[in-house]
Amino acid sequence: MDKTNPNLFYGAGEVPGAPGLKGTRCGGCGRAALLEVPVCPVCLSRDVKPVCIGKRATLTRFSSVFHSADGFEAPYVIGQILTEEGPSTFAPILADAATLKQGMPLKFSLIERGVTGKTGFAYVPQVPDPGG
Ligand SMILES: [Zn+2]
Repeated sequence: MDKTNPNLFYGAGEVPGAPGLKGTRCGGCGRAALLEVPVCPVCLSRDVKPVCIGKRATLTRFSSVFHSADGFEAPYVIGQILTEEGPSTFAPILADAATLKQGMPLKFSLIERGVTGKTGFAYVPQVPDPGG
């Protein structure tokens, strides 16, 4: 898989639970952090291992972007998301901004960037289970 940014996310099958964001789980305090880091940013333990996080997240806030850049065709939406594991980050949101609401559930999704043919990711609104 040719990724837009290999440091940020796992493709399917790379680690248990993938695809999703690259993260680190601390064996000391149990917290999750974004990206693969050698030391826990909370307790400074080196007892850490790479994990897949952010398969599900909540939309904190978002903004429409009207300039194409780096494989992103404008207009697109960039959002601040809170992963279910705790860390928050910015990510592209694949949806019409008019349909988005603060606090709505999102799920991680691999997408092919049309211009480059590379695989990237975005978050898409998670449709509630009918009758769930
Ligand atoms: Zn820790």
